[in-house]
Amino acid sequence: MKQLTILSGKGGTGKTTITASFAVLAKNTVVADCDVDAPDLHMLLHPEVIETHEFKGSKIAVIDKTKCTNCGLCRENCRFDAITEEINVAPFACEGCGVCSYVCPADAITLSERISGYAYVSKINYGFMSHALLNPGEANSGKLVTLVRQNARIAAEKENIHLIIIDGPPGIGCPVMASITGVDAGLVITEPTLSGIHDLKRVLQLLQHFKVKPLVCVNMYDINMGNIEKILRFCRENNVEVVGKIPFSPEVTEAMVNGATVVECFPKSFVSNEIANVWEKIVTLIQ
Ligand code: SF4
Ligand code: SF4
Repeated sequence: MKQLTILSGKGGTGKTTITASFAVLAKNTVVADCDVDAPDLHMLLHPEVIETHEFKGSKIAVIDKTKCTNCGLCRENCRFDAITEEINVAPFACEGCGVCSYVCPADAITLSERISGYAYVSKINYGFMSHALLNPGEANSGKLVTLVRQNARIAAEKENIHLIIIDGPPGIGCPVMASITGVDAGLVITEPTLSGIHDLKRVLQLLQHFKVKPLVCVNMYDINMGNIEKILRFCRENNVEVVGKIPFSPEVTEAMVNGATVVECFPKSFVSNEIANVWEKIVTLIQ
């Protein structure tokens, strides 16, 4: 089974559009939306949920009022101010650190797992989709990314599908690391701006660290021809393969407004043709 992760140093590079277009072109794949803090692939791929899983990624303090003596020690020691004057736990403030339980002389506090979000497996027109949503204020998205990837793998094995396309979270933090471990290639979508070049270098360093084959695709390459040259030179000097350059096109936005990918809405357009060329190249490279 082959796995490709699509990354970008930050949001707004067109990563989701390109990932969704690849899912359409692949025809039969499992797409894993690992941007669990702000998932948006569903807006283009319209998944029909077939499985829902609770995700318990954090803990919360629970006070047994029948044992509590109101000594106030837990409140004094909670550095997150998560215990009220009435000795109740404020759920959004509690970080589950366990200090209150440690200091409580009456043994009245325990830590209980709480639902931090949900993971879903869905049917899409082009195969299946594994996705999730973290509850507001919850951390641990790296753990949820791992669950989304695990669900994608199970779905792929069950359905005899040989390709998983992973939409990675933006940035270079823990969730990104969880989305690239053990994949066959990492495709970085970048744009020809100075911040884009900076982010590209950081993501490439991360791929190198995890020994993942790096590929680069420049989106909206024609918005700054000077910077595209800088990107191409940098990739050449560092032996990173550039699999394509996609032009700016208002058709991409028009398709998005209609809740679809450009390759579905405007299959004969120049931009769709370029996306298809990039996809064919990637398929050859990860075989
Ligand atoms: S430390 Fe224990 S006994 Fe004291 S107020 Fe908190 S819960 Fe109650
Ligand atoms: S678990 Fe930590 S954050 Fe939560 S109430 Fe206890 S001390 Fe405060």
